Amino acid sequence: MPRPAPADAREFSRRLRAWFRRNARELPWRDTRDAYRILVSELMLQQTQVSRVLDFYARFLERFPDLAAVAAARKSQVLAAWRGLGYYARARNLHKLARRVVREEPHVYGGALPATPAELRQLPGVGAYTAGAVTNFAYEKRAALVDTNVARVLRRCFAPHLRPKRARDVTRLWAIAEAVLPRTGRAAWAHNQALMELGALVCTARVARCSRCPVRSICTSADLESGLR
Ligand code: SF4
Repeated sequence: MPRPAPADAREFSRRLRAWFRRNARELPWRDTRDAYRILVSELMLQQTQVSRVLDFYARFLERFPDLAAVAAARKSQVLAAWRGLGYYARARNLHKLARRVVREEPHVYGGALPATPAELRQLPGVGAYTAGAVTNFAYEKRAALVDTNVARVLRRCFAPHLRPKRARDVTRLWAIAEAVLPRTGRAAWAHNQALMELGALVCTARVARCSRCPVRSICTSADLESGLR
């Protein structure tokens, strides 16, 4: 399956990051490199809109400022703090994860979240996307990540024939995400944030605002604003 040409990949990322510097929303999880806080934000954002998460996020962190606080709490207390956000499996997994990292296997984790996707994926409730997000957003290590927004942007830009629900095509989208990722962890941080922001604000599920899009000159689907899938 063809990957983006290296020159296109570089230009795509360069344009994306320049746009992000001018258009990024201020979000509290972008101001921290604390892996626990990044993890909580990613878990909350999995099924819930940003505007709704903002309020819950601040309150949850006040009650549970670090992984040790979650591990020390009873599951019912964590669930109570999660009340209103829904999808409680996320809170149950967070509690299980905290117990494992802090109490059950401190000799493995040293009480802190690991910094590689492979290690993170061993933990309860951490899938490929969340593992990439914690690795890159908290530790600024180079790691690709594909969530719904990222998948949509990459597919429309480079491979509109792919179907995001087909396992084989998901693998291909991850390969594209890897191919367009800049080399350094720091640049990858801005790149990944920018990709997600573009999917949330410009290239959305409902509408593609191609006339305002920074990667329009590279995108295979540009100018097909109506009729996009
Ligand atoms: S040009 Fe249009 S379809 Fe392509 S990424 Fe931008 S908004 Fe999406």
